[in-house]
Amino acid sequence: MRGELSRIEENLRRVRQRIEAAAQRAGRDPTEITLVAVTKGQPPAVVVAGYRLGVRHFGENRVHEALEKMPRVAELLASKQAGDAGPPEITWHMIGHLQRRKARDAVQHFALIHSVDTVRLAREINKRCQAVGRVMPVLLEVNVSGEATKFGLRPEEVFAAVPQIIALPHVRVMGLMTMAPIVEEPEEARPYFRRLRELRDELADRFPEAQWRHLSMGMTDDFEPAVEEGATLVRIGRAIFGERPPAG
Ligand SMILES: *Cc1c(COP(=O)(O)O)cnc(C)c1O
Repeated sequence: MRGELSRIEENLRRVRQRIEAAAQRAGRDPTEITLVAVTKGQPPAVVVAGYRLGVRHFGENRVHEALEKMPRVAELLASKQAGDAGPPEITWHMIGHLQRRKARDAVQHFALIHSVDTVRLAREINKRCQAVGRVMPVLLEVNVSGEATKFGLRPEEVFAAVPQIIALPHVRVMGLMTMAPIVEEPEEARPYFRRLRELRDELADRFPEAQWRHLSMGMTDDFEPAVEEGATLVRIGRAIFGERPPAG
């Protein structure tokens, strides 16, 4: 674990530097960008390692896996910081496709859902939040590239979906999320990120009653152009933690 900690530490340092440099190239304030460390497929000890290195935002893409991991992480941190102040301050992000039947668990355990991809899912989240008396911050996932394999609202669907979603009292839209296609060069992902930003700007004009602060875009292979194009949340796994262990 020692060696692993220093490897993750070095990776984190590099990732943070690259985010900062990309922000500076675009004349942006680097503190506007939140690093969401993606721990899907990683054991609880890896989350704890990230936490010890100062990471407070973690991303998971499957509700079931996350619900198993969260209490283990809390336990490990509590036993290690014996007597220390309070529970760990972790913000959990749901970044993967969310099935409607998992919405109830998701709204109770995540601080932000990045992946609202249908009006029906938004309605289900609203219903589940109403039952527990909370309001769920969400991002709308947009399939900018139009690839058939990807989830997300198509750009031409977004304008019809938004008024239906922002009318839901227990759902709070905070912005947009996208995944760029897998490309050879990070630079090739840039047009998709730019398109998401333009879409966000159009939505902010048309629907000023919602908040459009966040753009969740950029992963290990393409986060630098994403930051240059305005990302406020970058979701990075492998560049920090290395390749994921094979799914078991
Ligand atoms: C896995 C995943 C990431 C992180 O991918 P890396 O290539 O490991 O950085 C980001 N976003 C989503 C939605 C993911 O599923």
